[in-house]
Amino acid sequence: MAKARAVSGRKKRFSVTKKAHWKPVKKTSRAPKRIIVKAKKIIIDTNKLLKMEESVKFVTDVAGDKGLEIFKYLTNKGEMEENKLARALRFERANAIRKYLYRLYSKGLVSYIKTRKGSKSWYTYYWSANIQRLIFLIRESYEDEIKQTRKSIELNKAEDFYVCGTCNRRYDINKALQNDFRCPYCGSVLGHLEQSQMLQDKQSRIDFLNSKIAKLLKLVKEK
Ligand SMILES: [Zn+2]
Repeated sequence: MAKARAVSGRKKRFSVTKKAHWKPVKKTSRAPKRIIVKAKKIIIDTNKLLKMEESVKFVTDVAGDKGLEIFKYLTNKGEMEENKLARALRFERANAIRKYLYRLYSKGLVSYIKTRKGSKSWYTYYWSANIQRLIFLIRESYEDEIKQTRKSIELNKAEDFYVCGTCNRRYDINKALQNDFRCPYCGSVLGHLEQSQMLQDKQSRIDFLNSKIAKLLKLVKEK
């Protein structure tokens, strides 16, 4: 006990000198500072987006021509009650439109809320389009392809070959380097195997996809 007190006493001496510089913070009546994170408003040029070839293809692949029509309609009109939507797009029954809505829903391209009015036993569905999701999905598919293409470029690079135009012998990069890019057999200058064209094509595909992504993102503006 005594020992402990001695230690704490020593501690106290030290802390006193330190505390001499310390001043208590005056409490003011001002409200504490708050960091307000405003939700970013995103504005998307939906007209341009829906005219893009890849948008049309993507939505059609998911839900067919009818699905595309529904998606476009919902994008333009905003949230809409299911029966009203079915009538507007001249579907015979509300049930007939569901097949397409569910396909779109499976990819997150549309969403719904359901409400039950009063004691009615059935639900009323309100559907809306998620245009941002479309951008996300298209971008994701481009990025997947870029990743795959990069991988295949790496694999192909590992098999970099040189060929002799005279005797048609093939050499790998190490052998070609060792012989200053001349055929060790006949002395002809070695040419790079056609593969380089293939690699170039792949690289331009990547560039093309990146430009597509950039184009896509240009349609999104944060406010
Ligand atoms: Zn040769």
